[in-house]
Amino acid sequence: MPDMRVVLAHDLGYCSGIRRAIDAAETALRSGGPIAATDTLLHNAGEMNRLRSMGLRSVELLSDEELGAATVLLPAHGSTLPERLGRISGARAVLDLTCPIVNRARDVAGRFADAGVSVVVVGDKEHRETRYLMEAAGRQLLRVVASEQDLDMLETSVSRVGVVYQTTQSREFRQQVLEWFRSRGIEVVEEMTLCPEVLRRQDAAGALARRCTVMLVLGDSSSANTRRLVAVAGSICHKTYLLQDVAELGDLGLDCGDIVGVVSGTSCPPMVIDQVVEGLRRVCADVSVELEA
Ligand code: SF4
Repeated sequence: MPDMRVVLAHDLGYCSGIRRAIDAAETALRSGGPIAATDTLLHNAGEMNRLRSMGLRSVELLSDEELGAATVLLPAHGSTLPERLGRISGARAVLDLTCPIVNRARDVAGRFADAGVSVVVVGDKEHRETRYLMEAAGRQLLRVVASEQDLDMLETSVSRVGVVYQTTQSREFRQQVLEWFRSRGIEVVEEMTLCPEVLRRQDAAGALARRCTVMLVLGDSSSANTRRLVAVAGSICHKTYLLQDVAELGDLGLDCGDIVGVVSGTSCPPMVIDQVVEGLRRVCADVSVELEA
């Protein structure tokens, strides 16, 4: 029986922004006192459950008295003004864990708006990071663009736009957006706000999908960057699976002759990668594991 080959992408597990948020949350939880988060601190249900088991509370479930004694953690993907000015303003302390790369994108949107440039935010409409960028654009916000369909429906009379990207958008969609404006004679000012770590993962997903017979994307379906990895790999390798739970491995019909590429979203706990490799060893006795060349 042939060996199953498993090829791991270089960038797996947490990105730097999520690692930073988790480290800060763990430090706060160890320091004692009620620690709470707004909604999801990060997009991974398993990791959120682990932090809850360490004592992380939900702001919504705290009494006013408890909130007055609590430290509230703001999520890595940004917070909105109503959140910051709302109930949590009654907290003892607020710890803003927004990733510096997300804040840089927000600064770009704010600079465009201050300069009087109409701002187009390219991002998933309900995502909190997109709302964070929209807030920075303020009254200069022209439109949020999430898809090619949004572009097709876009009507604008402005001759110049500032384009800001949610950090987890793809390079390919950025090119489509730029081309759309340029083909209509609309001047575009932009700064690259796509996250380098996300781009590396998208590149790896594409490269591995070309040489593997099966692609496993590890992460949570609530994570925008994880869904994008599924889209990138799935456009090349038709046997691409989003794996949220290692227990699902047995249902995928994997074969010992498969070459299995493994990539992960940026909120995927590192231990999940080991669990997946162990799970693959249960599917096939002979498994060789290599790192992406
Ligand atoms: S994906 Fe990039 S921008 Fe988003 S939290 Fe991670 S490092 Fe920051």
